[in-house]
Amino acid sequence: MTDIPLILDVALGVTIPARHARGRAVRIGPAIDAILANHAYPPVIESLLAEALALTALLGSLLKDGGGQMTLQAQTENGIVDLLVCDYLNGELRGYVRHDAERLAEAGPNPSLFALFGKGYLAITFDQAATKERYQGIVPLEGDSLALAAQSYFTQSEQIPSIVRLAAAKGETGWTAGGIIFQHLPEGEEGRERIHTKLDHPEWGHVAVLAGSVKVAELLDRDLPLDELAWRLFHEEEEVRILPAVALAKGCRCDRAYVRSVIARFPVEEQAAMVGDDGFIRVDCAFCATDFPIALDEIDRPQSS
Ligand SMILES: [Zn+2]
Repeated sequence: MTDIPLILDVALGVTIPARHARGRAVRIGPAIDAILANHAYPPVIESLLAEALALTALLGSLLKDGGGQMTLQAQTENGIVDLLVCDYLNGELRGYVRHDAERLAEAGPNPSLFALFGKGYLAITFDQAATKERYQGIVPLEGDSLALAAQSYFTQSEQIPSIVRLAAAKGETGWTAGGIIFQHLPEGEEGRERIHTKLDHPEWGHVAVLAGSVKVAELLDRDLPLDELAWRLFHEEEEVRILPAVALAKGCRCDRAYVRSVIARFPVEEQAAMVGDDGFIRVDCAFCATDFPIALDEIDRPQSS
């Protein structure tokens, strides 16, 4: 068994075999603070990204394939937020939000998801490392919350009855975000296309009610280990199986060599025009806000023959 503490920066798998239900629970603290630290987002955007990172950890930890990547992207035209991107690889999380600060200020302290995105889309992409297969589903960004949007993603795009709950709050010690997802995968159906989905299947209805009873305070309680949370929700069940936990951390995969290769694709005259007063081309990683000052003589030149 694992010795990862089941309190913070962790994703835990849970199954309820008799109900053909699988789930994940996550709680993230320091990793979110680390991701937010370089961005200086307003509180509304920090809260949105904290919830999105919890959702990303839930979905990413569903990947059976350890090296697989999950990317969550919410996008819209003319929204206060026009782009939110998060991804997950091997327990490493990263994410950023592009937003219009002026319009956000006008929207008040607690805008709805619709107020932030308008008519937007939610795209979820799973890249399996072993098979090199990519699966992407896109649904309208609907509902009052990211959790409801994710739920409708699974029912519409994947026909998997799912319940998702997310919460995020900033306390004295920093941000905490928590979430759970539970899904109904009747025997033999996992991985196969479904002909028919019964959202009112009795064994699923029961799980949905119990999982849906989770409280925001429980999702965010830094004194409540995730296995105890699962047990609290499903203590009436004859068996609740706890799977190995996955530690979560901030991680970014940007590097100088990649930044140089991107700049190298521009025509030489354009590269010269990008050089700032300090003599460097300045490139920021959108995810982690790391600044890469690149000098022109670092850029590979096409070989002249
Ligand atoms: Zn980066």
